[in-house]
Order: sequence, then structure tokens, then C-alpha cells
Amino acid sequence: MTKDEKEKGISAIAEQISLCKKCRLYEQALHPVPGDGSCNTEITFVGEAPGFYEDQQGIPFVGRAGKLLEFMLKQIGYKREEVWIGNIIKHRPPENRDPLPDEISACQDYLNHQLEIISPILVVTLGRFSMNHFLPDAKISVDHGKVQKADKFTIYPLYHPAAGLRNPQVKKNLLIDFLRIPEILENVKNGH
Ligand code: SF4
Repeated sequence: MTKDEKEKGISAIAEQISLCKKCRLYEQALHPVPGDGSCNTEITFVGEAPGFYEDQQGIPFVGRAGKLLEFMLKQIGYKREEVWIGNIIKHRPPENRDPLPDEISACQDYLNHQLEIISPILVVTLGRFSMNHFLPDAKISVDHGKVQKADKFTIYPLYHPAAGLRNPQVKKNLLIDFLRIPEILENVKNGH
């Protein structure tokens, strides 16, 4: 797929998301948050759901967790616009509650189609909800930092930056795992 075809495909999905009423979450949300960044990237980052600031701006990871994500990206030589960043849920759950199973199920095709179009070499999941979308039986405390295959995607599960902001030990583990992304990417490219 050419760069133009990818961009058109991603825009078409964003349009569908903006009109979506497949679950209750659109009712109280201010803006849809379809995803952001380059669709010509080797790495995508997938979090859980929009929070307060994301809902205000329609852009994922723009609050404190987003600042931490941008800081970590800089440490490995990337700007946020050079990668694609999205969530498994595209409208903000009220009061930032956890997404419910029927909401995750209703929303999952959007992420699947986005990733099919972008076709990244590595999908970095942020937090347990995103990880369990691809790896239903994985546990974040055990499986963070371990590369796993899920269908056609290679998944690298990490803690969510928001969890890192709440817990210094989690933040330390998140940073350690994050700094390994270039090495993991090279390994996947070389078939290791
Ligand atoms: S959260 Fe997903 S499934 Fe629910 S209304 Fe929004 S786009 Fe549709």
C-alpha cells in the first residue's frame, strides 16, 4: 500500500469513528479520538482509552501520561509524529472508568483495521487492556517487556505511562522496557 493509500484508509476510519454509535461511549464524549501520527511508521503504540484532555482535543496521549510517552520516545530517538499512537477505545469512558467488555468488543474492529493499513513491524501495547486485546491470557506484571506474536502482529507489552506516573517502581520497569524498543525492533526485522 502506498503512503497516500494508507493516509486515505486511516482518514476513512477516522470518519467512521466520528459517526459511530456502536456503544454508549459516544454519548458523553466531546470528541472522538481515532489516533494520531504517521501511518508510515514501523512502530505503533496502543493504549487503553481517551482521558479528559484527549477528549477535549481529540488527540491521544496529550495529558501527563502523554508527556511521559513523548519523553520516552525522545530517549530512543523518535518524535511522536514519527510513530502512530492510538487506543483500543475511541471515545472517552465517563470519569475515566475502565472500558467494559462490550465496549471493547464493539470498538475493536477500528483498531484492527487501522493496524492492518499501517502494517507496523512492532505493536507496543501500553497497559493491560491494550495487551489483552492481542494477548487475552497475558498478565502485565509477568509479561511486560516480553515480545509475543499475536496473529499477524508482533506485540511488545509495556506498562501504561499513567500507571508509571502513579507508581515509581512501575515507572522504572516501563523505562527499562521502553529503552529496549530499538533493539527489539531490529531483532524483529532480522527475524530473531
Ligand atoms: S467507543 Fe468505539 S464503538 Fe463506542 S461509540 Fe466510540 S467508536 Fe463506536
